[in-house]
Amino acid sequence: MRRLLLVNALIFAVLAAAVALAYYGFSYTSEVSRDRELQLMRDLAEEKVLNIESLVVKDDDAVFDAVHLDDLGKLPEAVKNASFMSVFVLDDQLHPVLDGYVSRRQGKEGGEFRTWFMAHVLPHLPLTSKLPPNERGHLHGVWDGKPYLFSFMRKTSGDRTYYVVIEDDLTHLVAWLFPQFFQFSEQSKRLYQVVDERGELVYGAPFSDKDDTVVEVPFSDTVNGWMLRAAEKDLGEMAVLRRKRIVDWLLIGGAVTVILAGLAFLAIAIRRERRSNELKSEFISNVSHELKTPLSIISMFGEMLAKGRTKSSEQANEYAEIIWRESLRLGRLIDNVLDFAKIERGMGVYEFAETDLGEVVERATELCERRVAAAEMTLDAELEPDLPPVSLDANAFTLAVLNLIDNAIKYAADGKKIELRLRRDGERLVLSVRDFGPGIDREEHARIFERFYRARAMRLRPIRGSGIGLALVQHIARAHRGDITVTSTPGQGATFELWLPIKRA
Ligand code: ADP
Repeated sequence: MRRLLLVNALIFAVLAAAVALAYYGFSYTSEVSRDRELQLMRDLAEEKVLNIESLVVKDDDAVFDAVHLDDLGKLPEAVKNASFMSVFVLDDQLHPVLDGYVSRRQGKEGGEFRTWFMAHVLPHLPLTSKLPPNERGHLHGVWDGKPYLFSFMRKTSGDRTYYVVIEDDLTHLVAWLFPQFFQFSEQSKRLYQVVDERGELVYGAPFSDKDDTVVEVPFSDTVNGWMLRAAEKDLGEMAVLRRKRIVDWLLIGGAVTVILAGLAFLAIAIRRERRSNELKSEFISNVSHELKTPLSIISMFGEMLAKGRTKSSEQANEYAEIIWRESLRLGRLIDNVLDFAKIERGMGVYEFAETDLGEVVERATELCERRVAAAEMTLDAELEPDLPPVSLDANAFTLAVLNLIDNAIKYAADGKKIELRLRRDGERLVLSVRDFGPGIDREEHARIFERFYRARAMRLRPIRGSGIGLALVQHIARAHRGDITVTSTPGQGATFELWLPIKRA
């Protein structure tokens, strides 16, 4: 019992190990193939956003540094840099100071923009004295359907506070800066695009956003709300990766299936082996008992005869007959066991010769007559005359018939009658042995021909047996290219049909 538990635990452990291995294998391959690729792409995208933003901030800072309230002469220089559109210098009341506005918009347009800025943008800028000095702030938004980016800073000159506001040139950003970072080239493995807060394309070519291989990195220090999106350019490569993943899956799945099948096979084999061992030891004890019974009867009656403990010569005859009958039974059992052992070892045991099957059956019934009578039964034999001779091993066939009749005597004595028929059925000769005993359960019909198998109902009754009789009969029948079948309804007896072909191949 403990060994059984151990074996089951072992099988379970191997199973768990296999599943764990499969899981590990899968998670490892998918992690390596996909997550790494995505992580790499994300790192690159983040680096690009950082670089772009620090370039913008650097340019802004250069202007913030250059502007001094007392020396606004350098202001026009500042906007020469292509990355700005306008620069405003406002006093602490947020009024433009004298010469405190330069713009790349010429003439009237420049003036209009200033008015528009003062009216629409300025109220949104958080320019108060609470703003930490010399720190860049920024505001990105859409006015009149157009995106703007403003950078601002509170500065001081002596005890005077003033504000510098820069209008960054987004056209310059998109048309000049972005291409430097996201230039499309044959070698590049990735595609980039920048979308605005509504998801509309600002820069780059469209690509499918359903793909789970797109990474998104937002801008944070400049054009908030805009997003850099990156995807694998070579979809073929992604497909290869995906195919590899499927192959990995298949391999892992295949390996697990093989392991599971192997374990299942092992479990079945262990169970079979255990069952077979149980049956064998049962067989040994049954056979020993079967040998012992006739032997003790023989020795008992032999001793009586030898010591002259008989009242009359009839009684002496009776004792001698018992000894004879029991020695026949013993002989048959030994024949069974020996033949069975030979078959088990795979030795060629049959000697075929053209024989009249009717004669063989008749001789077998004669051998059984006394046993049938002793069981208070009748044997009704009908053998069709003039059957064609067939090639068979007469000894083996006699043993088969004796086994069938013996079983009927052993298990169906209550039925009182055994019907034996031998007939021709087309190209076959069919011998049927019918009894009127307890019959055999349907689900055991196939099993009773297995070696060492004894029907459940019989194991409960004190009828001893070895479980090899029918296995032997089946072997003999099949060796003659025939077979044996059983039909039985429990309670109404059983009919065993042994058939063999008339012509041997
Ligand atoms: P044994 O008779 O030594 O047990 P067999 O191989 O001859 O072995 O038979 C196998 C089993 O088939 C028997 O144990 C018995 O349960 C069942 N059996 C065989 N013949 C009959 C029969 N005529 N009626 C009922 N059961 C039978």
